[in-house]
Amino acid sequence: MNGNAAVGGDKVRPGIGQTGFRQAAPVGPSAGLTPADSAVLETVADILRGLPVALLTGAGLSTDSGIPDYRGPNAAPRQPLTYQEFMGDPELRRRYWARNHIGWAHMKRAEPNAGHRAAAALEKAGVLTGIITQNVDRLHEAAGAGTVVDLHGRFDRIVCTDCGNSYSRDFLAVVLAELNPGFLSAVEEAGGAASAPDADAELESELLIASFNVARCPLCGGLLKPDFVFFGENVPRDRVERSYQMLDSAGALVVAGSSLTVMSGLRFVKKAAKDGKPVIIINRGATRGDPLAAVKLEAGVGESLGRLVELLAPDWRNS
Ligand SMILES: [Zn+2]
Repeated sequence: MNGNAAVGGDKVRPGIGQTGFRQAAPVGPSAGLTPADSAVLETVADILRGLPVALLTGAGLSTDSGIPDYRGPNAAPRQPLTYQEFMGDPELRRRYWARNHIGWAHMKRAEPNAGHRAAAALEKAGVLTGIITQNVDRLHEAAGAGTVVDLHGRFDRIVCTDCGNSYSRDFLAVVLAELNPGFLSAVEEAGGAASAPDADAELESELLIASFNVARCPLCGGLLKPDFVFFGENVPRDRVERSYQMLDSAGALVVAGSSLTVMSGLRFVKKAAKDGKPVIIINRGATRGDPLAAVKLEAGVGESLGRLVELLAPDWRNS
């Protein structure tokens, strides 16, 4: 699918975490479930019935909320900024924050879709031990889910890499606006934001980027970083441990909307399979976990999870 797919160890490549919302794949209306899909989901429900389930979700779950899936079948190849580049190169950092300043509001406006609501319903119905998500969009929480590990971080928070203090992205938006008066309107005039409402706003003028003022930590003057796990950066240990706890207390693992390109997600599939727990994968396109799956379903994630709510937690079907 993409030539950079093989990433070893804990290294992750959270596409959405790189802020550029560029090259959004066109997202059409999700096709409904075919009779064959429905039959497969009844088999899945038979496997899962009575078992506590851990749910692992990825970018494919949020495409219906207008957030592009960089690894989906239609995703354009792109080279994400690495942790080392972000930390080591002030000009790349400036470029990153300029784009982030333009693009982050898009994710802030995104709303949970049927898949997020279904996941929250499964949790409230007691089916799930928890949700492990590779998405940074916080849409599981927005849909009402309470037990969520944001494996790759969250878009709405930034951290100081020197003193460790964290800030809301809303706060940074105010600071960046003060440091860069007129920047957003200048970008707008250049056609960037206006011409790509669903994608990363393109900066047409390099001058705009070159003049962008990056904010520093208000407490210590240190280097700020979005609370994302960048490519080349490890997932914090506590998140990994909480995820394994969810998996250990589950009898099965359902993967929804992830191609399992990076080890940060694939390792949970490997662990479940090693422990003899059935792995169900719902994803359009091949995944690295397919050989370990008891069932692989290529169908819409939102519709499929919604059907599982009907089958496993019928009392929640209207939630
Ligand atoms: Zn600081």
